[in-house]
Order: sequence, then structure tokens, then C-alpha cells
Amino acid sequence: SANTNPEPTEEDKKFEQNLRPQFLTDFGGQEKITENLNVFISAAKKRGEALDHVLLTGPPGLGKTTLAHIIANELGVKLKITSGPVLEKPGDLAGILTNLEEHSVLFIDEIHRLSPVVEEYLYSAMEDYKLDIMIDSGPNARTVQISLPKYTLVGATTRAGMLTSPLRDRFGIKFRLDYYANEHLKIIIQRSAKILNLKIDEDAAAEIAKRSRGTPRIANRLLRRTRDFADFENKKSIDIEIAKKALAALEVDEYGLDEMDKEIILAIIDKYNGGPVGLNTLSVAVNEDPGTIEEVYEPFLIQQGFIQRTPRGREATQLAYKRFGRSKFGNTTN
Ligand code: ADP
Repeated sequence: SANTNPEPTEEDKKFEQNLRPQFLTDFGGQEKITENLNVFISAAKKRGEALDHVLLTGPPGLGKTTLAHIIANELGVKLKITSGPVLEKPGDLAGILTNLEEHSVLFIDEIHRLSPVVEEYLYSAMEDYKLDIMIDSGPNARTVQISLPKYTLVGATTRAGMLTSPLRDRFGIKFRLDYYANEHLKIIIQRSAKILNLKIDEDAAAEIAKRSRGTPRIANRLLRRTRDFADFENKKSIDIEIAKKALAALEVDEYGLDEMDKEIILAIIDKYNGGPVGLNTLSVAVNEDPGTIEEVYEPFLIQQGFIQRTPRGREATQLAYKRFGRSKFGNTTN
């Protein structure tokens, strides 16, 4: 169902502002990242320097934008937000960079979508805090070099594989966000419930967590939908009964699979007899970009044990067959 698509809806965006943790201590579930960031941020503050540039990669809805906010908050500096496709011309980038405050944070979301020219300009802006700008044209054309304030670039992408190596190499700090364990999602749901002034039983929070595709954004969305069901039935708190009812009505998969997850698994099972099938073949079968399959969908399906990667391609596991009521010998049970 669309309820477990990790891309943000307009409604998600409206709520995300409120539900975002503001500091590292509220950002649970990615301990390796938060522990390291804490060290790097403290050190930069002690030295009175800008934090090194930070690259955040990983599937949508896991907290990249949230971490950019947190980094700025922890540093006690301003955050300027933009994204790869918005920076169309070098002038767009220059305008933003020259207006940054010393030691502040610039967040570029979808940084893999920067145009090659803009990316070129970014290299020296990252490395030496300098920008070479071309002024005039024809015989009068010349470049002037502008010194930029020392700043921290936080770049985020769901598609690490699409970054060029010169860009990737200019980030001193790199983190990959991973899908959250259900116990952490449960805590996130309980925290969000508190902010939204909702009472939720522990087992109900655990049930929603289990179906949230390892993704905080989906957990928060399912919590809001469940609240609608509770309000409709005039329940003062969300208990396991109403949570189950809501999740069933929303047609949320018991494993948190979304439509594309299901299509991928079913293509491997039904069209390629369980695999192995190559990434490009699979991509054509489900009509989705191979890079997106590899970097956005597959990590979850592999982590959950639905597919495995072998030298000859992707294979559906026993669990995948079981989930869809298929048997390896072709006779379906539903
Ligand atoms: P991304 O930028 O990776 O797509 P976001 O940072 O926008 O993801 O996070 C989506 C939503 O999930 C936000 O509303 C945020 O509140 C929530 N969220 C993400 N990570 C966490 C976390 N570790 N703890 C609590 N909430 C989180």
C-alpha cells in the first residue's frame, strides 16, 4: 500500500517539523553515527573551527535531513537548506555560499542531482572555501576569486552510487544510515505520540513499529493514521486492538513491505522462477531504475531476508515464497 512508501507526502512534511529530534541525544537508533558526530562536533567547537563537510547516504525517511538540523543545532549555528536540482546555475550556488555565516551549515539534499557545472564550482568551495567566478564575456571575460566564509557542507543522497568520486572525496565525514531496528522505531513512535499528545500502549507502538519498513517517516505516518481510527472510535488511547484494526484497514503489510518491494519479490518468483536474475533484467521487469532498486529497495529486502544477492544475480528466499503463498514448484497456495 502507499502507506509504506518511504518518500514524504505533503502531510508528512507538515508534521516532520514538529517530530524532528533537535539534538543528538534525541536521535536514537543510529548509535555509531551519533557517537562519532558527537566527537567531531565537540572537537570542531573546541578548536573554534568549522566542522568538516559531512556526507549522509541511505534510503529515504531514515533521518538525513533531521541530522543536518541536529548538526547545526549542536554547533549552535544557522542552517541553510537547498537541494541539488534547485541549484541550476553556478550563480545560484555562489549566491548561497557568499551569504553564509562563518561556521554555519549548508545542507544540500539530493546532492547527486547537482548539474556537472555547479558541481565543478563546488569543489574549490569545499576544499579551499574559494569560488572562481567568471565575469563578463567575450574579450572582457575574466575570473575573479571570491573567498567564502568557512562553512560546513552537509550533503545527503539516497543514491550514493551516483556521486562522482571527486565530490565524494571532498567530504571528510561520511555516514550511511541504516534501517532501524523495531525496538528503536517503537521508541520513536512513543516519542512522537508524546509530542502529538497521544496516549499509546506499548504493544500498540510495537505493532506499528513492526510494520514501518525500518523507517521513522513511515512509523510517524502510521501513528497518525492509527490516531484517526482511535479518534473515530472515541478511544482515549491507542491500544493494540485499534492499532491492528487500523493497520489492517490501511492494508499495511505485516512485514512493512510497500508496493515496489512486493513487485520486486514477485517478479523474481513469478517471472524468473525464483532467480537468479540480473539487476538490469529485474529493473525492466518492474519498470524501476536499477540504481534505485539497488540502493533504495534491495537493502531493506536483503536485511529482512526476502532476497539474497548471489554472484549470478538476485534470488528470492524461502521467506519470500512463504510471504506470498508460493511454493518453489510453481503451485500457489492462494
Ligand atoms: P530523510 O532526510 O533521510 O529522508 P528525515 O530526516 O526527513 O529523513 O526524517 C523523516 C522523519 O523521520 C522526520 O520527521 C523525523 O522526525 C523522523 N526521524 C528520522 N530519524 C529519526 C530518529 N532517529 N529519531 C526520531 N525521529 C526520526
